Amino acid sequence: MAWTDLLRDIPDFPKPGILFKDITPVLADGDAFADAIAAMAEPWRGVALDAVVGVEARGFILGAALARELDVGFVPVRKPGKLPRHTLSQDYGLEYGRDRLEIHADALPAGARVIVVDDVLATGGTLNAALALVERQGARIVGTGVLVELGFLEARTGWTHPAPLHACAIY
Ligand code: AMP
Repeated sequence: MAWTDLLRDIPDFPKPGILFKDITPVLADGDAFADAIAAMAEPWRGVALDAVVGVEARGFILGAALARELDVGFVPVRKPGKLPRHTLSQDYGLEYGRDRLEIHADALPAGARVIVVDDVLATGGTLNAALALVERQGARIVGTGVLVELGFLEARTGWTHPAPLHACAIY
């Protein structure tokens, strides 16, 4: 079975009108999880990288596995107040609300080559905020990756970052 067959659509979660893409059945199946991580890794194999940056919380699960697959380190971008040392903060809007993301101010050396990953690209606000945090540190975005893109939300239409944006599956 393809890993995409294990994605679940949950209507009206967490709010009416939102079609939530549940990736937990993919994570729970060893073969599907491995295939999904291989699909996320594919565009970056052979590309010089220093780290994978993943966004809380499902971006941690995928990002950490992807970092191991690509043999580089993992850097978390977290919700406010979770990181213990000095942080940079970035406010952003998302499909269902507003939020803020943080990164340790010394997480990435200037010039580090990173990819930024999350589970789902919806409006793009979350990933854009994470990209801004990485660039404010002087690190270089080599690319952005998601497992699932909600194409009907047209995040790519307003996407301005020049680095490649890779989605393993588009709905
Ligand atoms: P956005 O900033 O609008 O691109 O939203 C992306 C972030 O919110 C990701 O971290 C996703 O985990 C989560 N998210 C937003 N919309 C959905 C959805 N329809 N299904 C699953 N996760 C979503």
